Amino acid sequence: MISKIRKSDYFLWNIAFNIALVAALAIILLLKLALPQIITTSALKVISMIAIVPVIWGTVKGIKDREANTDLLAAVALIFSFAAGEWQSAAFINLMLSSARIFDLWTQKRADDLIESLMKYRPETVKVQEKGNVITKNIDDIKIGDLIIIDSGVRIPVDGVVTSGQASIDESTLTGESVPITKNTGDMVFSPTLNTSGSLLIKATKVAGESTLAKIIAMVSEASVKKARIVKIATKFTGWYVLATLLGAIAIYLFTGNVLFVLSILLVVCADDIAVSIPLTFTVAVARASEHGILIKSADVLEKVSKIETFISDKTGTLTFGKPKIVEINTFDGYSKNDFLKYLVATEAKSNHPIAKTVIEYAKNQNIKIVSSVKPKESPGEGVGIEIGSKKILAGKAEFLEKNGIIITSIHQKEIIEFSEKGLSLILLAVNKNLVGLAAFEDKIRPSAFDLVRKTKEMGVKNWIMLTGDNPIVAKRVSEQVGITEFETSLTPKEKLDFIEKTKSKGKNKNVAMIGDGVNDAAALAISDVSIAMGAIGSDAAINAADISLMDDNLSKIPGAMQLGIETGNIVNQIFIIWAITNITGLILVFTGVLTPTGAATYNFLTDFLPIFNALRVGTKIKY
Ligand code: ADP
Ligand code: MG
Repeated sequence: MISKIRKSDYFLWNIAFNIALVAALAIILLLKLALPQIITTSALKVISMIAIVPVIWGTVKGIKDREANTDLLAAVALIFSFAAGEWQSAAFINLMLSSARIFDLWTQKRADDLIESLMKYRPETVKVQEKGNVITKNIDDIKIGDLIIIDSGVRIPVDGVVTSGQASIDESTLTGESVPITKNTGDMVFSPTLNTSGSLLIKATKVAGESTLAKIIAMVSEASVKKARIVKIATKFTGWYVLATLLGAIAIYLFTGNVLFVLSILLVVCADDIAVSIPLTFTVAVARASEHGILIKSADVLEKVSKIETFISDKTGTLTFGKPKIVEINTFDGYSKNDFLKYLVATEAKSNHPIAKTVIEYAKNQNIKIVSSVKPKESPGEGVGIEIGSKKILAGKAEFLEKNGIIITSIHQKEIIEFSEKGLSLILLAVNKNLVGLAAFEDKIRPSAFDLVRKTKEMGVKNWIMLTGDNPIVAKRVSEQVGITEFETSLTPKEKLDFIEKTKSKGKNKNVAMIGDGVNDAAALAISDVSIAMGAIGSDAAINAADISLMDDNLSKIPGAMQLGIETGNIVNQIFIIWAITNITGLILVFTGVLTPTGAATYNFLTDFLPIFNALRVGTKIKY
């Protein structure tokens, strides 16, 4: 907080200083023209000496970072004009330079505001329930575990878990999606989303700096620091260009002895800061994406995302909703359904798999008690085994049970195939080596999955591959429905990882992107060139692991992110072109004698706007 205040204080002083400087320079120059006898040369000298301070400051800062920046050129130009006794030109050059600085500061502020705009939604005061009383606390005094009352129309002040009540929450500030979501006891709520109707009592789980919001803001502001390749190139390039110009200017001076000519060259060349506008393009792009619930971890991701050639996607929770419903339970050889469910929930009680969550929910509704068990042992992407008393119980896919020595007869095999052909995923249950029944789950395909595949193919993505731990029959059905022709089935998480590694090393598949929901696929996400995590809201693990986190789970935002990457690249190219054109034109004007030092300073000021306005344009027209 303190650093933020200092930062904004610094900004205010800086802008105030430059505005005062512009005003003083403008008045002195006007008076000099209108009433030359009042304004003496010493007045021009004094104001120019003051005005060179920020230029020198910028130069020193650049040298400290081992960068030759455009301030260096400006400083040399000013020193040249001082040496030549061109005090009126010096004042005019300073007027232009400080006006440009105000514009730069304003731009920087706009970019910062874009990043921090989410903060302003946080309510300042919070209603807290303490020992039966309701008290009002300042938001900064909220501690983890505090019980907070969220009335209708109020924004959620801190991240928490609902302990009672029900409400519709508009999460658009984080996800970009404004359709409200119903929250009940046990659900997570996030600052600064809005309670549109209903009321909640929540228990604070994350406060201040640790909240999802703080994480997003930190990540977006750091994203531009982790530089994209092109930004590094641009900075290096400007450095060399500045040095070359300086040497050239000195050479021309030694050759011609014409100070004004050299001065004009320097001023024309320090126009249009690509070193400012290119990083700015990335900052703005990352901030704009975050407004739509797309969190981009670093600027170089924007470069990579536009070049994706191969998409690999997980099935459950990614292409499907990951909220399977039990559609049928079949028990074998007269085994009771109640016992089947009792053992199934006991087995799944500790698992994080979407199927396990469904089973637990289902059992709750049927009032089935979870019996205590020992040694839950989960094979991720395969199934779970436990022991209850002397009973050894296994729940999982057919291959998993067979691997553990359970025999699946041809009658049961036939049944499994029939369910699979309907697109249903299965869990089989074995008690003491006997197959006792199965549960069939339907997990609906996300409508956005089909659009995602179609749009990305239109954008030039060559390969689409679905990976799943599920069986080939279900896999075929799902992949056909979303338009994917290539798929790999019955994979364990380790095999998914191996598959991505193999695909990457094939060479022809450059830039492999992996989309997953973070359940069982964190490792696969980590090794892909571009990792995209779904439904990242509330999941720090997913946000930390992925290059791109979709706060909600709307797959159709992925083509939007690719579009943004492409647009960022285009704007960067345009900035380079603007730079080339303005410099060449400027130099021609100087060499043909059209631009004198004051003209060159004006030219500098005017051409500064072009690349920066271009940078601010990025991402404004993309539909997500
Ligand atoms: P996907 O690759 O489609 O995301 P997973 O690899 O997570 O799916 O799971 C593949 C299959 O393994 C599931 O369809 C299910 O049959 C079985 N399975 C995975 N985890 C469990 C579990 N906790 N309990 C029972 N079966 C499981
Ligand atoms: Mg999965």
